[in-house]
Amino acid sequence: MSKIIQIKKTVVVTGGAGFIGSHLCRFLLAKGYRVICIDNMLTGNHSNVSDLKSNSDFIFIDHDVTLPFEISETVHYVLHFASPASPVDYERLPIQTLKAGSLGTHNMLGLAKVKKAVFLLASTSEVYGDPLVHPQPESYWGNVNPIGPRGVYDEAKRFAEAITMAYHRVHGMGTKIARIFNTYGEGMRKNDGRSVPAFITQALSSKPLTVFGDGSQTRSFCYVSDLVEGVYKLMLSSVNEPVNLGNPAEYTILEFAKKILKLTASSSKIIFKPLPVDDPKTRCPDITRARTLLKWQPKVAVDDGLKRTIEWFRKEAK
Ligand code: UDP
Repeated sequence: MSKIIQIKKTVVVTGGAGFIGSHLCRFLLAKGYRVICIDNMLTGNHSNVSDLKSNSDFIFIDHDVTLPFEISETVHYVLHFASPASPVDYERLPIQTLKAGSLGTHNMLGLAKVKKAVFLLASTSEVYGDPLVHPQPESYWGNVNPIGPRGVYDEAKRFAEAITMAYHRVHGMGTKIARIFNTYGEGMRKNDGRSVPAFITQALSSKPLTVFGDGSQTRSFCYVSDLVEGVYKLMLSSVNEPVNLGNPAEYTILEFAKKILKLTASSSKIIFKPLPVDDPKTRCPDITRARTLLKWQPKVAVDDGLKRTIEWFRKEAK
């Protein structure tokens, strides 16, 4: 009787202890991959991956991706998710944000090249800046202020996309670019400054919800399990051009704050604070490309995703 040896494929996930990165690690382990999680905990959190550390297919390496990274074993995929990603974080860490997107992407492309691995970049809807086209298709080039406070993130990711495409064209590498729109779910840091954790935390502690500006700016929120499935489909695809991943269900921020008040049954008030500089007025993904090429679209309704997220924040608060 011949013995069949099944060799697991290995995936490097940078930023694997962050919000989306940790969901991705968990998902890949469940699919039967070995996962090498790289994080320097700048904005990541050990608690996001503490449940994975007993899994023999999960390897955690404390490393800053802006420094070169070498590893002797075979790697099949490199998923580059390491970066500060909330507006508060990248305003606080502007140079680290620029370095994670530029030097970090260069180093991880180098790793993928030497390993003959597929490279996937976690890019962002921020490459569209304050968009003048609505909803945003991948063909839109964006409207970004390069020297504004958000420019450090937007331009780092735009550079990251440019170098990723250059490696694809020059070295013929399989490269993928996921343009990720606002994503929420369990594992977000309660003080990362983003609207979802801010509103939920405020609502659950009977504090006023801080809506910036008049709340007429729009966002489209995708539940993290949908997003991770989209990333996975992109990783396995032969698509090299950027793909928007997000949920096209669009809300004004004021509507969204009211939704959270309702779902938490909170009696908190809403107060208005100044709108941050360069805060985009609209944001909604055109996901025709993901629908057509990846056969992907979000499945989780916003109310359902929010209920799960609220439950998680409730437990965390205890
Ligand atoms: N926002 C808000 N109150 C908060 C945090 C954010 O009104 O406490 C607004 C923010 O100005 C933006 C929207 O909510 O217009 C989404 O912000 P978030 O930080 O979640 O993500 P962004 O899409 O700006 O990256």
